[in-house]
Amino acid sequence: MTPLPIDAVIPRIVESLRRERSLVLVAPPGSGKTTRVPPAILRAGILSAENPVIIMLQPRRVAARAAAQRIADENGWGLGVEVGFQIRFERRVGPRTRLVVETEGILNRQLLSDPFLEGVGCVILDEFHERSIHTDLAIALLREVRETVREDLRIVVMSATLDAGPVSRFLGGCPVIEAEGRTFPVEVVYRPVARPSASESVVGAVEEVVRDTGDSGHILVFLPGVEEIRRAGAGLAGVARREGLEVLPLHGSLSGDEQDRIFRLGGGRKVILATNIAETSLTIDGVTTVIDSGLARFASDDPVRGVDRLELGRISKASAAQRGGRAGRTGPGRCVRLWSEWEERGMAEYDTPEVARVDLASTLLALHSWGVAEPSKFGWFETPPVERLESAERLLESLGALGGEERRLTPLGRQLLAIPAHPRMARLLTAASEAGYPQEGAALAALLTEKDIVGRQMSGEAKRGGSERGLSDLFNRLDLLAEAEGRKFSGLLRDRGIDPLAARQVSRARDEFARIARRLHGSGAGDEPDEAMMLRWVLMAYPDRVVKRRGSEATGVMTGGRGVRLSAESVVRDHEFYLALDPREDRRGGTLEAKVRMASALRVEWLEELFPGSMRNERSVEFDEERSRPVGVTRLWYRDLLLREDRNAKVDLLEAADALAVAIRLRAVEFLRENDEGSGWLARLEFLRGAMPEGGWPDFDIEALGEVVSVACVGKRTLEEVRKTPLVPILRSRLTHAQSRAMDDLAPEGLVVPSGNRIRLSYQAGGPPILAVRLQELFGWTETPRLAGGRVPVLVHLLGPNYRPVQVTDDLQSFWATAYFQVRKDLRARYPRHAWPDDPLTARAEAKGSRRP
Ligand code: ADP
Ligand code: MG
Repeated sequence: MTPLPIDAVIPRIVESLRRERSLVLVAPPGSGKTTRVPPAILRAGILSAENPVIIMLQPRRVAARAAAQRIADENGWGLGVEVGFQIRFERRVGPRTRLVVETEGILNRQLLSDPFLEGVGCVILDEFHERSIHTDLAIALLREVRETVREDLRIVVMSATLDAGPVSRFLGGCPVIEAEGRTFPVEVVYRPVARPSASESVVGAVEEVVRDTGDSGHILVFLPGVEEIRRAGAGLAGVARREGLEVLPLHGSLSGDEQDRIFRLGGGRKVILATNIAETSLTIDGVTTVIDSGLARFASDDPVRGVDRLELGRISKASAAQRGGRAGRTGPGRCVRLWSEWEERGMAEYDTPEVARVDLASTLLALHSWGVAEPSKFGWFETPPVERLESAERLLESLGALGGEERRLTPLGRQLLAIPAHPRMARLLTAASEAGYPQEGAALAALLTEKDIVGRQMSGEAKRGGSERGLSDLFNRLDLLAEAEGRKFSGLLRDRGIDPLAARQVSRARDEFARIARRLHGSGAGDEPDEAMMLRWVLMAYPDRVVKRRGSEATGVMTGGRGVRLSAESVVRDHEFYLALDPREDRRGGTLEAKVRMASALRVEWLEELFPGSMRNERSVEFDEERSRPVGVTRLWYRDLLLREDRNAKVDLLEAADALAVAIRLRAVEFLRENDEGSGWLARLEFLRGAMPEGGWPDFDIEALGEVVSVACVGKRTLEEVRKTPLVPILRSRLTHAQSRAMDDLAPEGLVVPSGNRIRLSYQAGGPPILAVRLQELFGWTETPRLAGGRVPVLVHLLGPNYRPVQVTDDLQSFWATAYFQVRKDLRARYPRHAWPDDPLTARAEAKGSRRP
């Protein structure tokens, strides 16, 4: 075997694992971790006879298969005999297999169905630095398994670049072994281009390398995806022929044969067009030049579709360093970066781990089946934010995967767990395949998860804009997909508004979903499903996206309260209720509205049938401000969305009184102010509370006034009727009998003056009560009258014959003696028919003239 850097530390690794059950191993890519460590552990005889198997996790299928093959070759073992692999859709494991290389989803599923990991003595988590959500989950589950039922289980974490501290601590402070790699200097060249993943950019860079460099080492080009690789491959055909280069793709969906060609020795100079699979998980010998587009596709939670999706993004500086390092393994090399140093400053230091960016619904579903009731308390390697946990839980609940007060896994949840797709799509596929239409369900799921096949910037016929009406924008996309397939995804489809690349992707995804769906319930029904049935499957996947249209407008409200606007391209124009399948935030006129291009009609009956627990019928009696009376209201709710309202339901007398009371209570103070008698009475009481605090007078605060108003509402049907109800008796009933009697005495409504007239007193807050009266009526009165048992003198407003105030006094005696004469002088001539006696103290008071109006 070729010597590799890892060989030097193998004895230490074995020794450490003999003593301790965990180990963190850090060594640069290509140093031999993946191929040399597992066989070394097997040979060391550390594992027991009952649990002799090693499982090694590899994040990528191609890498898993390649590693198993390489290990078989190096050790003279048979693939599927001593060493095997298990990836999605392919399993090569035999009874004597001691080492199984698996992709991540597989191990987690295995753990869920067999938490004892029977037969397995050691699990190796390779490529841990990639921090996929599966590896994060696996390390946490494995630690729990070891703490509870499998004390002997060994856990080895391997990584190319890693801050080993946190992992070591997570595994109880286990040993960390680091190995030096064998590296040569790599010269970094910045060669910024406008579109780094475009075919012409790649061709240009390759030509330059071939022209300007002397060596004949392989060229490794990093591109974001299969499509870019395909285009670059086509673009390179000419250069390749001229220069005798072999152009090879390297990505996750290669066949075994294609894969072998990459590693085959000999031949000429190779140009390998790779995704970030070649960043650390696969090493190709003899690479001296790396050309890096700086781009990759990252899985992330797409709030628009509500499922994860791959987004094109810039790689981090850490990734760029790894990619560059691939050129310096066999000798000095160079790395051509298709971006500028200036752009590089904007790149993140490290990638965000998946746990912080992907949708957590699948992961939480797995945790629930593991028996974790509260995901926030699970022993995460890195705990996700609570809001993200909570929203994933809510989604699972509305999909029917969790149920009851405690949100426990339901039988349906168990069913969804078994489907390798986002739980929303799993729900859709289950429904469709139960009905016997796996193929149709798969097509819908593909349209819902992949990029829209109706091009955004396109203005072809597919974007018919308002001329067509229909039940769902998915239906015309199904037609367009069929058309695109019929025309072999030709570029000419663009004239019809169809994006051929997106259509090809949807078609692939549909086939994959169909494979999954067919496994669920056997073959299809043969005929075609009706449209309403298909719309219901979609509803089952998106129960949180129900919209009620507002009036006849394009606007509507979605569950959760968000405002949405249906795009003019949507065909769903005539339906009161629909699903917003791709609501995109859009700020318009200062308010946040979500724009919806894809919608699907729905009927209230479907909600009632599918989500009875989310429906609520409510009947209430409310005060209708416009009609100024209580009305009966019935409302039908779906979650927080008001589906229907009827404001003309019958109201009985008791309910009416209650509703009136509620309405008036809110404005009790105002209501009483408008009632003259009531407010007069309250003013008198207030006066007494101030002047005679020892009297125990009740305080009519808002609460008490509200009660008074409620009593007034009894037996009434309208606000008008309540307004006509005398309030004083109700107010008075709150006094004791003694208080009630004393009140008329201590704070009378009015006073009888010398003229014999009874004059009304005016009580107001913050001052003495006022008696406004023409002075002629008071002749003979020397004492100012006093209230509250003599404590407070009345403030007399003396009026002239014209009822205009001429003097304000609380001392009548002194008025008659002095000011009276001045008044008399001023007014006598103007009002000669009124009495102006020389001696007002003895004159007869007169009630001449009409009483104040
Ligand atoms: P690590 O896991 O540390 O990145 P590997 O164990 O994958 O390293 O690879 C160690 C060495 O073995 C590398 O130099 C690589 O070139 C070589 N190698 C690995 N797999 C193959 C293969 N299938 N064909 C040829 N060489 C291989
Ligand atoms: Mg490796």
